[in-house]
Amino acid sequence: MQPLLPAELWNEHLFTGQWQAGQAPTTAVLEPATGTTLGTLANADADQVARSTKAAHLVQAKWFQLSYDERAAVFRKAAQVAERHANEIADWLVRESGSTREKAEFETRLSIKVLHESASLPSRSQGEVLPSVPGRLSLARRRPLGVIGVISPFNFPLYLAIRAVAPALATGNAVVLKPDPRTAVCGGFVIARVFELAGLPAGLLHVLPGGADAGAALTSDAHVAMIQFTGSTGAGRKVGEAAGRHLKKVSLELGGKNSLIVLDDADLDLALANATWGVYLHQGQICMSTGRLLVQRGIYERFLERLVAKARSLSVGDPAKGQVHLGPLINAQQCENAQRIVQAAQQAGAKLEVGGEPQGLFFPATVLSGVTRDNPAFNEEIFGPVAVVVPFDTDADAVALANDTEYGLSAAVLSQDVGRALKLGEQLRVGLLHINDQTVNDEVVNPFGGVGASGNGASIGGPANWEEFTQWQWLTVKGEAPAYPL
Ligand code: NAD
Repeated sequence: MQPLLPAELWNEHLFTGQWQAGQAPTTAVLEPATGTTLGTLANADADQVARSTKAAHLVQAKWFQLSYDERAAVFRKAAQVAERHANEIADWLVRESGSTREKAEFETRLSIKVLHESASLPSRSQGEVLPSVPGRLSLARRRPLGVIGVISPFNFPLYLAIRAVAPALATGNAVVLKPDPRTAVCGGFVIARVFELAGLPAGLLHVLPGGADAGAALTSDAHVAMIQFTGSTGAGRKVGEAAGRHLKKVSLELGGKNSLIVLDDADLDLALANATWGVYLHQGQICMSTGRLLVQRGIYERFLERLVAKARSLSVGDPAKGQVHLGPLINAQQCENAQRIVQAAQQAGAKLEVGGEPQGLFFPATVLSGVTRDNPAFNEEIFGPVAVVVPFDTDADAVALANDTEYGLSAAVLSQDVGRALKLGEQLRVGLLHINDQTVNDEVVNPFGGVGASGNGASIGGPANWEEFTQWQWLTVKGEAPAYPL
């Protein structure tokens, strides 16, 4: 079988409907686990962004004029292509983003599911018949926005890009995707190639790797009607400001400081399994990672002792060389930031139970206990494999602790008493709430979005996609024009 991404295709190339050489300085595609160079990445400059948005604008209307069936067929084919190359796609996620094999395979499956779900979008009802005066047909219908700029992060690079790219295309838009340059192959070129092989008309999808400057150029571009941004709250604020200035619709999916609340009647084995998954999956580099483990006083000591033993047992290493629980962090900056917070946490009175010392980019599973509200580890998003364990006394205390953050992405409550857990959960200010589960969950068909500093009220996925990527048009039709009296 031909590989999905032969090196000569993407090396030093951008995707604009065809693979073309970039004009801006190139950067190395690095494997974080080994530092090996996997290829050379062409980056986009502002001129390329402008050329691409114009080209996308020119072909979008024609795409929307295709029959719904013709558009749906592209996504069905894209899913088949991705399924056929699922191993190669997962390999790229392992090598370029430092994913464990299990996480990479999970992310690949989730991304294929997005393609299947997107195939069903064009044939869905796209509006409503409204009541009106006799003789007038009055409709509210959803129309595509035009060109949508998607800016995506490094941590779930494939899924977080395709969850926007595919439904945006399926609802009749064109897309210019700017993936994070650290994960531009698995989070950008994989998508370009899958759609190219699926027969998406050329020019509807552009994949332009680049840094903040390319993202900023996209955000202020006159041909772009909407920006769908997933990334940090700091960058999201800048994107939101720029999009507002240029009167663009903007959807911001940002950071989180997510609490997993373990009530004193929870099953301890299951609580441990949930906490371990929520804190350490993908080295804690997930917006929904469990950033605070709030544990009720009666079980706090027993829980902590077992969590520390569990953390000690988790292996860290190169995920391409065999099974490990934790791979590398994405780069030195991310590692230094996690280490800085762990050190500041200790200075502020927390106890380092295990871990804390990275070797290169390999950060071991770490546990901080006795963390109080004024501690940096309580407040900052760490984006590293660090359990921040906080005791609490009453259910009301747990609510107050969990809500004590500007973020509001995900929260979870563990208890054998579902009524008690739900009563507590309903007081939490979050966009994603899980009773008897941990904080990291996404099924594609659910609306996904945070409140507060985790987003701007937009949601993506499932029933939210029509709202996200289209806008209402009011259409009226009369048999003949009325004779107005003026
Ligand atoms: P980041 O904000 O640094 O980068 C994300 C993307 O934005 C990259 O493509 C980057 O090049 C681009 N970018 C950066 N500055 C920009 C600017 N001024 N204008 C336009 N584009 C710009 O994020 P990161 O640190 O790479 O990713 C981790 C962050 O993303 C965490 O805070 C995490 O919680 C968040 N995240 C949120 C979700 C969600 O769905 N809510 C999902 C994953 C990650």
